[in-house]
Amino acid sequence: MGIVNHIIKTASRFLVNRAARREESGRLSDLDLWGLDINAKGRLSVNGQDAVGLVERFGSPLLVVNRKKLLQDAERALKAFKCAPAGSRILYSYKTNCIPGILKELHGAGLGAEVISPYELWLAEKLGVPGEMTVYNGVDKTPESIEAALRRNILSINIDSAEEVETIHKIASELNTTARVGVRLGFSAKSQFGLDVQSNEAMKVCERIASLKGRLQFNCIHFNATSNSRWASTHKYYAGQAVEFMAEMKAKTGLVAQYLDIGGGFGVETTKNMSGAEYGMYRLFGCLPAPPRPADFQPIEAFFNEIVEAIKAKCSELKLETPKIIIEPGRLITSKSEFLLTKVNAIKTKLDGTTYAMTGAGRLSMTFPCDFEYHAAFVADRPEARPERLYNVMGRVCTSADWMFKNRFLPSLNTGDVIAVMDAGAYFSSYSSNFAFQRPAIVMVSETGDASVLRRQESFEHLVAMDNV
Ligand SMILES: *Cc1c(COP(=O)(O)O)cnc(C)c1O
Repeated sequence: MGIVNHIIKTASRFLVNRAARREESGRLSDLDLWGLDINAKGRLSVNGQDAVGLVERFGSPLLVVNRKKLLQDAERALKAFKCAPAGSRILYSYKTNCIPGILKELHGAGLGAEVISPYELWLAEKLGVPGEMTVYNGVDKTPESIEAALRRNILSINIDSAEEVETIHKIASELNTTARVGVRLGFSAKSQFGLDVQSNEAMKVCERIASLKGRLQFNCIHFNATSNSRWASTHKYYAGQAVEFMAEMKAKTGLVAQYLDIGGGFGVETTKNMSGAEYGMYRLFGCLPAPPRPADFQPIEAFFNEIVEAIKAKCSELKLETPKIIIEPGRLITSKSEFLLTKVNAIKTKLDGTTYAMTGAGRLSMTFPCDFEYHAAFVADRPEARPERLYNVMGRVCTSADWMFKNRFLPSLNTGDVIAVMDAGAYFSSYSSNFAFQRPAIVMVSETGDASVLRRQESFEHLVAMDNV
């Protein structure tokens, strides 16, 4: 037994060290990727605002939104998508980062709203997004929310199940109105979303919609098939399948979709999803995945252009008019413009040499995406310092499952250091929880370096506000 244990220990140490070397040699060190830089004190800086200073002023942990980068990334996407037919739209995926102060900026720039819940639908209305720029997806649309969507005549309610057709039809009849609807296509048995194309479920639903024409106006074919894609190929493939479906649908039911909504899933070069093997190695042995290589990512201009050209070609092949195209990017728009700052509260080295850096943020409160994605991390007062040691960077919830990074190769840390985790703009707030602690404040730093609070840190009173005590 002793020998077996020894072999396992030696092998896993070897694997962890090899992974750490690989992580270090490929690590992303160019702060310009996130629109950040280094100030005269050698510290991480956002539009002239010192990151350590932000923590001193607003507390730790803290989410920081870089307004300049946010608008740059939104504008770049809008410009790149000009290759799509007139009337095409970019609708931001609310669930990716549903903070009103961020959404307002995006709507101001010209992006609409893609919502997946009654709350998000309500919020889009509150933020003044026109119905014409709103699409309602999701698997749990309440009757009240469908009614709200109909009153605003939103661009499309994308149907996700056969039952939903009847519900929407009933509500539209009661309101004596017509509902603009679409159908979410499902291409994979591995996903719970959408109506199955292969089993003919989707076509049957379209036939039913065609029979209810008086109350249901067919407007949109939708799918959302991928996440953090580096190349256009996956989108192109499924868009081709969707256009084939549209041709068959037209032949069988007479329905014509004005819009083809190809979902989100456009990647950013600063994060990557772990492969199945990388995820397994990380969970089993704590081996970090290799960082993404920015050169492996297709620039978004070429990405969009390839998809649009493929859709046009397929439509012309099948003698269909090219539809207007909707995209629902989340990560692409907001990932890079927000980062997380969290103080190191204590450092502990155990007998076996494992060192824990105890911080205010882990996977159970703030950094769940770091579980299955690669995220760059820096020490805020010396972002250029070379990594020297392995740390298990932990959160503050009292369970061993609250880690942020396992075996992360970082510069030697001291208590009081501030760790900056990049790409917090996609799914960090969304997955955040108030497990034992309040959720943190979110601040936005303007182009000229002024910091303003988008969302205050929760107070203890917030945590009990809904309790009947
Ligand atoms: C999550 C989601 C998106 C956005 O995905 P990203 O990978 O962040 O671009 C778009 N559409 C739907 C339906 C989604 O569920």
